[in-house]
Parts: sequence; structure tokens; C-alpha cells
Amino acid sequence: MQRRRTPAERGSTSILALGILVGAAFLVAIVASLGGSYVAHAELQQAADLSVAVIERGGADSPQLRGERMARANGAGRVRIDTIEDGARLRIRVAAPAPRLFGVPAGLQVRAVAYADMPAPALVGDGGPNPPGVYAGSLEVVDGGARLCPRVARAYRAIDTAAGGDGITLWATSGFRGWAEQAALYAQLGPVIAAPPGTSRHHDATELDIAVGPAGSAVHRWLTTNGPTHGWVQRYSWEPWHWGYVRGC
Ligand SMILES: [Zn+2]
Repeated sequence: MQRRRTPAERGSTSILALGILVGAAFLVAIVASLGGSYVAHAELQQAADLSVAVIERGGADSPQLRGERMARANGAGRVRIDTIEDGARLRIRVAAPAPRLFGVPAGLQVRAVAYADMPAPALVGDGGPNPPGVYAGSLEVVDGGARLCPRVARAYRAIDTAAGGDGITLWATSGFRGWAEQAALYAQLGPVIAAPPGTSRHHDATELDIAVGPAGSAVHRWLTTNGPTHGWVQRYSWEPWHWGYVRGC
């Protein structure tokens, strides 16, 4: 006949059972937390990888904008895209808050990184001359202060006059930029809007940013129709304001 357990023995069994339960709960929490982080990281990595795919495919707007949109659409809370290797590649860094477990964040943040080759710029017009380095000759000022080499300044005055004849006012907001000016602009605006110093065509003294308003505005339409016959082309499909003189300085 089996011996009956004493109350003390029954108590220690309950404590043991409780211990096992708590231990199991901890284990489940740890596994769930690791699993949650793992899934969150995989999803974020996918956001970064999709961003790479859409950047490398090329398109009408800037690679950085395309990449950022895609990463955000796939759950990345923070997106940072940097130009690396002298503009040859882009580094996409994404982050999202760590997944929560029973209301407690499992870690600080989930992060992922991916790298994209810079696609060839989608040029609307002729690439034109783009000598390496920064133009070092004399400069003339047009409109409120935009600078151009003398030949291109003459060409701008000519197209400005032609536009005026059609009731269109051209206004140049920015022309030649030296290395330091471009570096300051890059630091201020970041890689989505500005080119890193050394890679901007504004170094050539053949380029102007013109206040065209949105793409398809009256000024933009006039330039699109008449610019090429005067030697001016919109350089990049995603920058309706940026016009270059293809015959050079
Ligand atoms: Zn520009």
C-alpha cells in the first residue's frame, strides 16, 4: 500500500511545480523575443533589399527618393541613404522600433543595411560636356546672382529674351557653384536633393536652376518646347528646374 505524502512533501511539490512554470514562462518569453526580433529583422532586411531593387532598376525620379519610398512602404521607420565610394554606390540603412513582448520592447531597435549600385542618371537631354573638376575661368552674373561662364551667360540672355517675347519670364536662382559651395549645400540639403561636391554639374558653369515651378507649368512647358533649339536641355527627368547649356563654355 502506497504511503500518503506528508503536508510538507505536498508543499515542496507545489513549489517545484511553480518553479517549473515560471522557468517555462521565461523560456517562452526568451524564445518569443528572439523569434520576434528575428522576424522583425528579416522584414526590415527585406525593406532594405527592395529599396536596392527599385534603386538599381532606374526611373524618372531620384534614386534616393525611390529607395526611401520603397523602404518606408515596407515597414522601415527610419531610412538613411548615403552616397558612398565617390557616388558609385548607395548605402541604405533602415531601422524600426524593436518588437514588443507583453508590452515591453525586446531590445532597442531593429536595423538592417543593404547596398545598391548607383544607376546611370536618367538624362532627359544630351549629357553635354562635363569636364572633370571645377570650372576655373571667368564668370558673369545673370538675373539675381546666378553665375555662368561668359559664353553660357550670353546663351542664357538670348533664351531669356526669346522667352520674354512669348510672355514667359525666366528667373535663374542658381548657377555655377565651387567645391565649397556645393559641399555646404550638400551638408544642408542632404543626398536626396543635392549632389556631393565633385559630382554636381553646377561645377561646370553651364548649368542653371530656373524657377519653373512644378513640372508642366507654363514656364516649364515653354522651356521644354523651346530650350533645345537654343541649346538648353533639362538634364535630369526628376529636376524640372535644372537646365544645362549643351554647347559648353
Ligand atoms: Zn541644379
